[in-house]
Amino acid sequence: MDKKPTWLKANRLGSKKASEINAYLRSLNLHTVCESAKCPNRGECFDRGTATVMILGEVCTRNCRFCAVEKSKGTLLPADPNEPENIAEMAQKLQLKHLVITTVTRDDLSDGGAGQFVKTINYVHKKCETVSIEVLISDLEGDWNSLRSIVEAKPDIVNHNLETVPRLYPDVRPMAVYERSLDLLRQVKLFDPSMITKSGIMVGLGETEEEVIELMKDLRGVDCNILTIGQYLSPSAEHHPVVEYIHPDLFNRYRDIGEELGFIFVESGPLVRSSYHAEKARDFIKI
Ligand code: SF4
Repeated sequence: MDKKPTWLKANRLGSKKASEINAYLRSLNLHTVCESAKCPNRGECFDRGTATVMILGEVCTRNCRFCAVEKSKGTLLPADPNEPENIAEMAQKLQLKHLVITTVTRDDLSDGGAGQFVKTINYVHKKCETVSIEVLISDLEGDWNSLRSIVEAKPDIVNHNLETVPRLYPDVRPMAVYERSLDLLRQVKLFDPSMITKSGIMVGLGETEEEVIELMKDLRGVDCNILTIGQYLSPSAEHHPVVEYIHPDLFNRYRDIGEELGFIFVESGPLVRSSYHAEKARDFIKI
């Protein structure tokens, strides 16, 4: 793909702080998806009091073609029993405003890792009353009992990314099912109608504008409240190629359409990632 356009230049705000925080996280054997995904915004997020930690290790049982995370070739490590408490300690020490807890997909675990999410949410609730918690979860292979346990632990936001439009799933996200991901967001609202739900996609993978708008309608069809839309950037030549650099005008148009469709908050822009400006959603949550 041609040279990156000018609008994809990330501002290097807070990188010194970012590296200090990363060193601290590593001292607690904690992983941030920001590092493994080479996110261009990590400096800025930390400065806004938002951090995204990845639980359940750094090796995934899936093989999404856009993702830089290491893919499993055999038996994976069990969940780290100290991780939930370490994350709560980190959130307290860093005086976070908004904590995003994400994960690789662990189809090898009987509950898909839901138990580790519940423990982490409970520990953070106990140690930090003011931090808002967003969980960015896998599709749990459609195990809605495990999903219910996460919802009942009362995070503030349940996030599950659709990532791209259904036509591109076989290429981009081969082990996921579009309808199953939509159904997950529907189930969250059935378990707790007051729960804020969120989803996110990348664009520039070959989707059409009409397909993106259809996807937005599907999300509103399951009462999804928040949407993020960002430019796909290929982690390497081995990953899915960037088909198009989407112009900022089209990101703005998606934002306007999303708001017209009823999302309470749409973060749409070239550098937007799932947790980018995630703390802004706090305005919609009764903390
Ligand atoms: S499931 Fe998530 S972590 Fe695993 S390969 Fe796909 S995007 Fe990456």
